[in-house]
Amino acid sequence: MSHAGGRPYLAIPGPSVMPDAVLRAMHRAAPNIYEGELIEMTSGLIPDLAHVARTEGHVAIYISNGHGAWEAALANVLAPGDKVLVPATGRFGHGWADIARGVGVAPQILDFGKQAPVDPDRLEAALRADTARDIKAVLATHVDTATSVRNDLKGVRAAIDAAGHPALLMADCIASLACDRFEMDAWGVDVTVAASQKGLMVPPGLGFVFFNDKAAAARAGMPRVSRYWDWGPRADPEMFYQYFGGTAPTHHLFGLRAALDMIKGEGLEPIWERHARLARAIWAACDAWGQGGPLALNLGTPAHRSHAVTALRLDPPDGTRLRDWVAGEAGVTLGIGLGMADPGDPAWHGFFRMGHMGHVNPHMVLGMLGSVQAGMEALGIPHGAGALDAAAAVISGGRD
Ligand SMILES: *Cc1c(COP(=O)(O)O)cnc(C)c1O
Repeated sequence: MSHAGGRPYLAIPGPSVMPDAVLRAMHRAAPNIYEGELIEMTSGLIPDLAHVARTEGHVAIYISNGHGAWEAALANVLAPGDKVLVPATGRFGHGWADIARGVGVAPQILDFGKQAPVDPDRLEAALRADTARDIKAVLATHVDTATSVRNDLKGVRAAIDAAGHPALLMADCIASLACDRFEMDAWGVDVTVAASQKGLMVPPGLGFVFFNDKAAAARAGMPRVSRYWDWGPRADPEMFYQYFGGTAPTHHLFGLRAALDMIKGEGLEPIWERHARLARAIWAACDAWGQGGPLALNLGTPAHRSHAVTALRLDPPDGTRLRDWVAGEAGVTLGIGLGMADPGDPAWHGFFRMGHMGHVNPHMVLGMLGSVQAGMEALGIPHGAGALDAAAAVISGGRD
C-alpha cells in the first residue's frame, strides 16, 4: 500500500522544487505591461541576476528554456560557416553542439566520455592546432546534468590563454548557477547561459545570457543578428518591451523577483556551501550502499562531481524499479538516466539521477536517501549498511 500521501519531492535535476514564496508571487492577476509595478520591478532584476553570475557585464533575458538560451547566445556572436570547439562531458555538451549545427556553425567536438571532466591539455592542444584561428568560441558545459560531471572553467580559460587563442569562452551554467561556485568575471568567462528552472527555483520559461565587453565587441562585428535573438536591445533597452523583444513574461518575473530575494537573503556563499554539504551527504550514503551491492556513483573522484545532481547506476532494471518504487510508495521522484544508454537498450534501466538543486535542505535530502534505502530493501536490491548514518554525520558536521 502506498504511503506517498503528503508533500511530494520532485528530486529530478530540473525543473527543481518551487519555493512557496515564488508560487505566491506568481499567483496574481495579470499586470499592466505599459506602466506600474512590473516596469519598476524589472530593471531591479538585472543587477541581482548579474550578482548571481558574479559579473559586472550585461544580461539579456529571453522567454525560453535552456535550449533557447543556448541558441540566443550563439546567434549573437557566430555566423553560418563559423567554427566552434566543444569539449563534451555528456549529453548536454553534445546538445549545445547540435544547436550550433542548426544555425550553420560547425562544431569540432572533443569528447571526454561520460565519466571524466574536460582535460585542459587536450583542449589546449586542439586550440594550438588551429593555426588559422578559425575557432571563434569554446562552448563549455560547467555541469553536465546527464553525467553530473562538473568542469573546471577556470582551467578551460587557462588552456585557451596558454594556447594564445582569441576564441570566446562560452559557458553553459544552466545546472550550476546558484548551486555550484561560479565566478564569471574572475574566471574569464565571456558568455554565460542560464535558465530559470534549476538553481534559480522559478518554473521553466526564462533563459538568461550574460555577456562581457569582449563578447559585445564580437556581436558588433557580426554581419547581422536576428532581431529576436539580438541581445543588444534586451540588455540596454530604450523601451520596456525591448527587454523581452515583445510582451514581458509577467508572472515569471514576479517569481524571479521572489527567488532573487531568497538568494540575496541567504547569500551566495552559504548557498554554495549548502549545496556542497548536501551533495557530500548523498555521496557518503551512496558510498556506504555501494560497499555491499551494485550501486555506484558515475564519477569516482569527488572533485569532478556536481553539487546539484548525482548520476548513479544499479544493475538493470533495478534503476527503473527503484525510481518507480520511491515515486509510488514514498512520494519522491528521482531523475531518469539521460544519455547514458539508448532508451531501447535494457542497460537504460540501470541508470538514474538524484536532483538536489535550489530549494533543498537536509530534511529533504535525508528523506530522499531514507526513501531510496527503503526502496532497496523492499525490492531486495543488495546494499551496504550505514548509509543514512553516514549522510547524517556529514549533515551534522561530524565529518568535517
Ligand atoms: C537543463 C539543462 C539544459 C537544457 O535546458 P532546457 O530548459 O531543458 O532546454 C541545458 N544544459 C544544461 C547543463 C542543463 O542542465
